[in-house]
Parts: sequence; C-alpha cells; structure tokens
Amino acid sequence: MAETAPRLEIRGVTRAFGGGPVVADVSLAVAAGQVTCLLGPSGCGKSTTLRIIAGVERADAGEVWIDGARMAGPGLHLPPERRGIGMMFQDFALFPHLTVAANVAFGLTGDRTAKTARVGELLERVNLAGFADKHPHQLSGGEQQRVALARALAPRPKVMLMDEPFSGLDNRLRDGIRDTTLEILKEEGAGVVLVTHEPDEAMRMADEIALMRGGRIVQRGAPYNVYNAPVDKAAAAFFSDINVIRGISRGALTQTPFGAFLTPGHVDGGAVEIVIRPQHLKIDFDRAGRGPNPTSLDGTPARGEVIRARYLGRESLVEFRMDFDGSTLTASVPGVFLPSPGTALWLMIRRDRCFVFGVQTK
Ligand code: ADP
Ligand code: MG
Repeated sequence: MAETAPRLEIRGVTRAFGGGPVVADVSLAVAAGQVTCLLGPSGCGKSTTLRIIAGVERADAGEVWIDGARMAGPGLHLPPERRGIGMMFQDFALFPHLTVAANVAFGLTGDRTAKTARVGELLERVNLAGFADKHPHQLSGGEQQRVALARALAPRPKVMLMDEPFSGLDNRLRDGIRDTTLEILKEEGAGVVLVTHEPDEAMRMADEIALMRGGRIVQRGAPYNVYNAPVDKAAAAFFSDINVIRGISRGALTQTPFGAFLTPGHVDGGAVEIVIRPQHLKIDFDRAGRGPNPTSLDGTPARGEVIRARYLGRESLVEFRMDFDGSTLTASVPGVFLPSPGTALWLMIRRDRCFVFGVQTK
C-alpha cells in the first residue's frame, strides 16, 4: 500500500548547548498543505528546532526527513540549500538594492522566461502585481512582508519554515497578512512549520499546534483540542488567564465551595486543582441576593465581592474576592458589564468547561 510521505517528519530530535538539552526528543510530522505551529514561551526551544529542520543547526540525535528522504541523522547532514525548504523569519530583510521582482527571483534557477513567469505569478498571488520594479524602501511593512513570502515560495519549497514572521508588523496589518499568507501557503501545498509564542496566532493559523515547554512537545493537537483539553495547568494557562480551585478527591468526588465535582481517576485523598477559564466562570444573575441553590446542575453558586471591573471591548473582566477563602477569581462577561467595587454577586462553574488536574505531591 503506497502512502504519501509527509512533507516533513522529524524523529527524536535532541540538541544541547553545554548544559541540559534545549530540544529534547522532539518528533512531529507535517503533511502537504498543513500548518503546524510550534507554540511556547520564549526560550523553550522553538527556533532551535526550526533551525535543525532547516539544517543551519545540527542535532545531537534524531532524524529529519523531507518528502520521504533523509536530510539529517547519524552520519548525515545535508546543507540547507539541498533540503527543498523555504524560510521566513521576523527579520526577513529583503535585498535593498534589488527590485521587488529581482528579490523574488533571487532563489530561482532555470531560464529567464520561466523565472519571469514564476515571479509574475507569485507577485499576483500576493497582490503586488504592479510593484515589480519598485525597491523595498518604497513599500510598506506589510508589502515588504508579502514580497518576502513570494521570495521564499518562488522555488516551490516542499517545506516552509517560518519563525515569528509576523511579529514585526503592527497589529492593524497583522490579521489581514496572516490570512493572506495562510491562503497562499495552502494553495502552494508546502508543509509549513510556524514558530510563534502567541497563542492567538497559533489558534488562527494552525491545523495542528505542538505546544512546547523546556525543549519538549508537551501536547499536540488541533487548536480546538489543545484549547479545550489541555494536558496540565500550565498548558491551560498558556492560552488564557485561569482560575484555580483546590480540593481533595475522595471517592471520585471533590467537594468545593462551588459544590461537588466529579474527579474520577484521581487518587483517593489526593489533592486536585480545578481549572476554569474566565469565560466559563458564570455570574448567577437569577440567584443574586437569594442565596445558594444546591439543586443547580452547575453546582452551588459561591458568593464574592467585586474588586474591580474592566471593559476590554468584546468582553468585560470582573475580578472577585471570594467569601469562602478570600481568594481572587476572574470572570469574563461578554459585552459591557461594569459592576462597582463591593457589589456582591454569586458565581457558578460550568462542569463541562472545567479541567481537573492532580497535584503532584513529593
Ligand atoms: P525559542 O525560539 O523558543 O525562544 P530558542 O530555540 O531560541 O528558543 O532557544 C532555546 C534555548 O537554547 C535558550 O535558552 C537559548 O539561550 C539556547 N540557545 C539557542 N541557541 C544557542 C546557541 N547557539 N548556543 C547556546 N545556547 C543557545
Ligand atoms: Mg525563537
């Protein structure tokens, strides 16, 4: 049975610089037309992983395969120019003395007619058809970024490697350019690895997110799954603010001031943390001022007092000091909701939207 090889596959890639490994046993596969985002905090090893794939950095162990051919592994290290990759970095420096067309043609081989045709096709695709004879300094940041994309794609790379390519652009431009870029990458059918430390960017661009921490991939999956089924508290916290309620699991149940939570699979007598994103902490307006309702499907409401409320445009963030232990919880309410400090309200936790994690004890 013939299976199409993934555009990119890396297996057990490991790299140390003197101390402990900064990339540790990283494996992933990217199919044609698929975007995988390496997402994680600064210093977690994203760029080093990308540089090893590109061949500008060597791995201590592991293999890099592109289109079914081994590029790097024990006793083998092909240089970047022989790997069929395109690269785009934050600092995508175009050649200032060359025209837009010459910049795009830079990595192309073959006869002049074919080159001119490919350059024309790409400039059209990035919506810069009329810009061929301009120089980089005559273009806006967004236009320069699109030229860089066209330049990277011109030789039809099998794998496109992008390291924070949008971080130099101002916010207003960024969303539009992300969407255009994504559309073109899909049309070109390269396998794409995009490095970013911004969860929003990964959620917007990725078919698959590979969440990295301390040199390792801690979770891989579609954006929906990584956001809605985080592997641990830190994975949940990487995507949004979180609220944490602590308790002890007994007989697969954990009692909290918000009522009982099902906590199957946790050690009897073991500490658990119930993690809730601010948008899933609900204000129980019906119940406000009338006390708890133990029969609610969402458990028991708990009372808190508003510390402060801020309007963020699409939502309002309201911080509460909870009566039960003085801790702070934050609720996100769609639209405008700005209760004054000191207002007492009842909060509930949606059972289908909270994550329960065991707490490691030494
Ligand atoms: P990220 O891109 O996720 O921010 P990097 O892959 O750039 O992280 O870096 C991971 C870690 O490896 C950092 O602590 C960085 O200082 C270290 N590092 C990267 N390259 C080198 C190098 N050439 N020599 C020594 N340390 C390096
Ligand atoms: Mg980096």
